[in-house]
Amino acid sequence: MEHLTISTEDSHYPVFIGEGIRHQIEQLLPESYDKIMVITDCTVEELYLKDLEDAISPNRDVFSFAVPAGEKSKQLDLFFECHTKAIENGLNRRSVILALGGGVVGDLAGFVASTFMRGIDYVQIPTTILAHDSSVGGKVAVNHPLGKNMIGNFHQPKAVVYDTQTLLSLPPVEWRSGMAEVMKHAFLADKDMLKQCLQLPHFQKVTNETLITLLKKGIQIKAKYVQKDEKEQGIRRYLNLGHTLGHALEAEAGYTHLSHGEAVAIGMDFALFLSQKYVSNASFPISEYRNWLTKQNYPTTVLENYYIPSLIERMKSDKKNEDEQIRMVLLEEIGKPMVFPFQIDTLQNELQAYRNE
Ligand code: NAD
Ligand code: MG
Repeated sequence: MEHLTISTEDSHYPVFIGEGIRHQIEQLLPESYDKIMVITDCTVEELYLKDLEDAISPNRDVFSFAVPAGEKSKQLDLFFECHTKAIENGLNRRSVILALGGGVVGDLAGFVASTFMRGIDYVQIPTTILAHDSSVGGKVAVNHPLGKNMIGNFHQPKAVVYDTQTLLSLPPVEWRSGMAEVMKHAFLADKDMLKQCLQLPHFQKVTNETLITLLKKGIQIKAKYVQKDEKEQGIRRYLNLGHTLGHALEAEAGYTHLSHGEAVAIGMDFALFLSQKYVSNASFPISEYRNWLTKQNYPTTVLENYYIPSLIERMKSDKKNEDEQIRMVLLEEIGKPMVFPFQIDTLQNELQAYRNE
């Protein structure tokens, strides 16, 4: 089992990564809580809830609540239902919430934990590759009909227990979605991690050992930025590499035809294109990255389906923007991100040029 520690200004917590470690949850819980509420989704409930319950000592009082699978569960009604279940079952300040699932469950359960009785402990038990990103950092939220993650909080977990065996049941689209964020962490890390990612075989053939190495590195990169900038006022925004166009594509696709990571993967390609042109003399492995996207079945031609001015309109509402400019995260070189402001017209022309490439 691998073990990392995440340290922020006022919290330190362990991240355990290993094969089959959901069966050791009892030993990995940081305290002896009197009551445990497991929040999960219906898909993950079927697959892994029993394992978790079996691993928890029979002396503990455990109950669970499963929300429907998918992004639509990140909403206030279900947040409220979680609170109702918690109150009905006598959850209290000495209790803990276990978030068993992907980023949706992590964000929802974390937000419930941050507000229940003004905040109780929670432990992340991520079951998607994408959740290597969402389970550390303490950003928790639900969506508002007018915007994603609009209602939320910062609340760090007490521990993260990442069992990589659970990732074997993920469908291909969730591999693509999660591995794009691993790739993002590689671009932000160094040439070695990037090389390792670009050399990956087809996702179905990635060994658990390689996966553990990459997820651990990815979490370390995320932690590096979160530790220095817990509340996202400065360098944490570098984690947005690929996300300005990515979010716009996701939104234009109505959050259905394109997963988050698939959209971010295209956004990163655009960021590389701009980096090469505007800020860097370094040579980026652009063609290797594009070959990788194709080999791993990312939807590389997706931009053709969208109207560029609509995408630009969406990119204008990105949180990083100021002064009528669109601020993109670009790379001076691998491992060296920066924020670069674009005039709106310029960016629109560049997006057109990128599409025509
Ligand atoms: P998700 O939680 O919806 O999981 C994706 C799908 O996979 C769901 O249908 C789920 O039921 C299924 N699933 C989960 N684990 C499985 C398993 N082991 N085997 C088979 N199926 C499984 O989505 P996600 O991609 O994990 O997370 C996306 C969410 O994360 C978004 O809401 C996003 O906003 C959030 N996020 C948060 C942060 C943060 O810092 N808090 C960072 C990145 C993303
Ligand atoms: Mg992301």
